[in-house]
Amino acid sequence: MSNDLSATQQRLLAAHVAYCAKRSPFYRAMFAELGSDAAAIDSYAALEQLPFTTKAHVEGNEEAFLCVDAGEIADICMTSGTSGTPVAFAQSRADMRRLARNEELAMRCAGITSADRVLIAATLDRCFMAGIAYYSGLQQIGATTIRAGANSLVAVAQLLKTLRPSAVVGVPTFLLKLAEYMAGDGAAAALMPVQRLICIGEPVRRADLSLAPLGEQLEQLWQAQVYATYASTEMATTFCDCQHGCGGHVAEELMVVEIIDEHGRRVSDNTPGEVVATPLQVSAMPLLRFRTGDIAALQRQPCSCGRSSWRLGPILGRREQMLKYHGTTLYPPAIFAVLQQIDAVDSYYIEVYDDFALSDRIKVVVGSDEPTLSAAAVAERIAAAVRVKPQVEIAAAAQVRARVYPAHKRKPQQFFDYRRQRRLEGHTA
Ligand SMILES: [Zn+2]
Repeated sequence: MSNDLSATQQRLLAAHVAYCAKRSPFYRAMFAELGSDAAAIDSYAALEQLPFTTKAHVEGNEEAFLCVDAGEIADICMTSGTSGTPVAFAQSRADMRRLARNEELAMRCAGITSADRVLIAATLDRCFMAGIAYYSGLQQIGATTIRAGANSLVAVAQLLKTLRPSAVVGVPTFLLKLAEYMAGDGAAAALMPVQRLICIGEPVRRADLSLAPLGEQLEQLWQAQVYATYASTEMATTFCDCQHGCGGHVAEELMVVEIIDEHGRRVSDNTPGEVVATPLQVSAMPLLRFRTGDIAALQRQPCSCGRSSWRLGPILGRREQMLKYHGTTLYPPAIFAVLQQIDAVDSYYIEVYDDFALSDRIKVVVGSDEPTLSAAAVAERIAAAVRVKPQVEIAAAAQVRARVYPAHKRKPQQFFDYRRQRRLEGHTA
């Protein structure tokens, strides 16, 4: 692939690679082993010569990635640990300024200005990077912040009614519950002055960039525009929709992104693959070609908003959750999106087996107490939408809920992988 980076990005990439090679014990060793000259990595094409960094490299080995003295560390962020052990990411003072700049660019992309009052309905403490990023980015813009935090529906609804924000930052499923709660409390979300919902942590768009049922419901209930975002602690960078909702804009000065196939080769534009991130200008724990495990596609044609930056499509799923079915590949969220549209469906999960050589056996278990709901009808709806017809089983709502929401887990468990082959690959990745 040709060199497609802007001149600024090329300069920042070269500086970043040189910094890693000089200051990071892990990358110093990597370059020594490769016997290659870090100075030669100054283009998008050259970047492809470097090996990937995975979560397994960093996990329990944080010291080897640290490039600054203890006195320079301003804050420590922990990854959520959704897929493995939480990793501690030290942030220098410069990294904290970078984080604020990153979120400033993301929020500006979503149309936030100094005139906005933005309610942050997300965790602000617990060593999470996201909360402090939203807060500092909004402060940088000059907007008013309302730090609701990870609070109850009652408390957030009360803040909405009394402080009347013009935008809300939150997890889509929480924003949905909030609107439903407010309707029951006699204060429709649609009547609030909220114009923008900055959606974090969960995708709200389909692969074709149209709004998924969850995103549509939010726009309708709130009478506000939905903005999708994608970010992670390792990337320390946010991809955020502009008003045209055609993928998260990549802040050129902060990130070089690649999309790769199963064999680690770059794929062409608009083709889904694994997101590989090289976050620029990070000083405490910089990374090169970090494999995120998230699946999305990259678009490079100019956007109607006038920005020429690349855009990353919605996250379609996790690499290790890829389903193969008679030549079709898909990810569990595509099936979840269909189930979300069926009123009689209360809860659901997917089990996957590899007892056939070339095709996975996909079992969808739907929780419903509605006697008219038939497994065949659900299977047909899924087949019509995603061209894969799984085995569907209907069970009592309470029974499915018990499996999806175990007491000791923070997030719902909706995917159970019984494939022996895939699990082995997952361990070695
Ligand atoms: Zn745009």
